[in-house]
Amino acid sequence: MSDTHPYETYLWSPERKKYEDEEIPKDIKCIFCAQSKNDERVTKLSVFEDDFLMVVLNIFPYNTGHLMVVPKKHVNSLTELSDEERNRLFAMVQSVEKLQREVRRPLGINVGINIGKAAGESIPHLHVQVVPIYEKDRGFMETALDTKVMKESLEQVKEGYLDRKDILEGYWH
Ligand SMILES: [Zn+2]
Repeated sequence: MSDTHPYETYLWSPERKKYEDEEIPKDIKCIFCAQSKNDERVTKLSVFEDDFLMVVLNIFPYNTGHLMVVPKKHVNSLTELSDEERNRLFAMVQSVEKLQREVRRPLGINVGINIGKAAGESIPHLHVQVVPIYEKDRGFMETALDTKVMKESLEQVKEGYLDRKDILEGYWH
């Protein structure tokens, strides 16, 4: 297996339990729409937001530092964005790449969009995943149990990004 492939299981301590215990109330139909409206019943770890989009940490990251760029408008296809909205979304993806290079110093970065359940979509609201890939750091858990041990808490990762929030602020003219 490639060392940059997402793991089957992720472990944090002590953060993970906290997020797993959180139940999403039934009346919340879309977690990203709830986050964009600052619904206090859902966890939101935001690095940047404005009236058009938000940049949030994935609380179940594929790798440390995993960010998502999410337009606030509830759409589930790139074709539902206007030309300007599309350009603005990808201008932010470009700025997020820059932020991750500065803050996380990854070896590479995966950028991806899953549209439709058949494509692996978990939330039917358009979002761009931006996942930093690092040098091999496989220990026992990773090798024997295919479980990725996260060495930093989500809050620590968020703070690291917030220190360089200036990189995102000028994303759109
Ligand atoms: Zn939505």
